[in-house]
Amino acid sequence: MDAVVCTHCQVAMTSWSAPGSTVRYYQCPFCARTHSSCYSEVFARGAGARLVAGPAPTPVPGTLPQATGEQIQWAGVKARAARWFARLEAEELHTAARLARPPPRQASPSAEPPAAALASVAARPARHK
Ligand SMILES: [Zn+2]
Repeated sequence: MDAVVCTHCQVAMTSWSAPGSTVRYYQCPFCARTHSSCYSEVFARGAGARLVAGPAPTPVPGTLPQATGEQIQWAGVKARAARWFARLEAEELHTAARLARPPPRQASPSAEPPAAALASVAARPARHK
């Protein structure tokens, strides 16, 4: 499986997507930069994140900056917020799709134009230029 790597930290990014959404989000566990699959040019150009074929590169111990407890906690908060936004977006898409659909037609007699009105339109003499 292909991995998405943060171009700043050279580590594999975690990814998630909201249920029912085709949009996938990627976040770096170190710098917490977040990208979405909506903007594929980011991955294509390697601006912040890039796709690497195969498994994520294994980091060499001792060469990576160590995150402090506070940073890890903050990253967790950001990840939670990002997931929340993803869920909101999915709900918005769901609502938009529902609103875009025309309401079911009601077969009520009042929806039909009265026969008298149709008759008067038909009886009106056609205007000649
Ligand atoms: Zn990073």
